[in-house]
Amino acid sequence: MDKYSCWFQSIENPEYKYNIEDVIYRCSKTGSLLEVEHDIEELKKNPPEYWKELFDSRYRRQSWPYGSGVWGKKEWVVPFIEDKNIVSMYEGGTNLFWAEKYGKQVGVEDLWIKMCGNSHTGSFKDLGMTVLVSAVKQIISNGTEIRALACASTGDTSAALSAYCASAGLKSIVFLPKNKVSVAQLVQPLANGATVISLNTDFDGCMKIVQEVCRKQQIYLANSINSLRIEGQKTISIELCQQFNWEVPDWVIMPGGNLGNISALGKGFLMLKEMGLISKLPRLVCAQAENANPLYRSYLNNFETFDSVPAKTTLANAIQIGDPVSVNKAIKILKMFDGIVEHASEEELANAAARVDLTGTFNCPHTGVAISAFEKLVKKKVIKKSDKVVIISTAHGLKFVDFKINYHLEQLKDITSQFSNKPIEVEADPDKVMKVLESQIL
Ligand SMILES: *Cc1c(COP(=O)(O)O)cnc(C)c1O
Repeated sequence: MDKYSCWFQSIENPEYKYNIEDVIYRCSKTGSLLEVEHDIEELKKNPPEYWKELFDSRYRRQSWPYGSGVWGKKEWVVPFIEDKNIVSMYEGGTNLFWAEKYGKQVGVEDLWIKMCGNSHTGSFKDLGMTVLVSAVKQIISNGTEIRALACASTGDTSAALSAYCASAGLKSIVFLPKNKVSVAQLVQPLANGATVISLNTDFDGCMKIVQEVCRKQQIYLANSINSLRIEGQKTISIELCQQFNWEVPDWVIMPGGNLGNISALGKGFLMLKEMGLISKLPRLVCAQAENANPLYRSYLNNFETFDSVPAKTTLANAIQIGDPVSVNKAIKILKMFDGIVEHASEEELANAAARVDLTGTFNCPHTGVAISAFEKLVKKKVIKKSDKVVIISTAHGLKFVDFKINYHLEQLKDITSQFSNKPIEVEADPDKVMKVLESQIL
């Protein structure tokens, strides 16, 4: 794999390149974000069929680490990492669920939900974190001193970071906005032995502090500002095309907060096209919560301006971000993919998630935002009934049980639960039970 190389490159000026094993998060000349670039000419010496066969031969096998959806595509992701430094928990390989029943309800029958939350720590953040933590292990083995890895998080990044660090024997520090993450999200870093710092601010405030801390200490920044994570996340696009036997859907819809993931999604498709494995690109939809929708506002004015907003509380807490770090990457990608930004109110996201749950899935609130965006675009006839559509489900519903139970008990403030299903209390008496059941079944 040595012959395949990659490097960091400024997103503003491709002339500015940096060694991939440097501890660097921004271009030191322009201050812009970096992206990982690959030696495409070298990769292209093998034809598309070679890559399809190689990826298919590894997919979900036990030959460690290549059965992982990320590491099975290692040559396209981070070829410089030696296998001995890889910290993998068999990420990716998630179900591309045919949403047959729900699709029939909305009249879009070629509808798929990529269940990325069925993962080691319950969200799609594992895809990028396996890459980042492995890279750090390699950097340390080359003699650089790194004392800990740190992130600001709305919940899922901290869970992924602490799990991968625990597995690698590295120290992790997570900065969480106090009272803004679910219990299930808080408990994961605690269980994995991270140092958990609870700050009386929001995510954007945590982000500022972690960048400051990482600049001054030998602490490695693990947020998605770090483009190594984007390389892992981009395998979502590669994997979903692979699952369709290298066919490309017409639409891919994903919830967005800090906007690294929508950028990653596009990056994966661009690489597939450049390498000749696919011949067209899908249209992308970034779905935001109305309470934290700076990208949506910018989209309404053709991305001519962008202003951050204070993020208001939303049930979709992982995307409660008003000052997204990767906004420039995301706008660039959305323009290339004839992209759309939609948004969903609290009531819309809650009801959308519950509606699809009734067809057998169990959706997190962020996926609810994406589902609601999908329904709006179908209603506007932007998405056509015959289109092939993929919705990215980003976290497991079980990480958000407070949201789910309060929805069904009709205790979510200002929200009418259209599909609530309350437990029925009945005396332990067969006749009374029978009576209730009759009213339920008939
Ligand atoms: C991180 C996250 C997102 C959004 O990804 P960004 O890169 O921040 O836009 C969406 N859903 C869940 C569950 C997440 O954890």
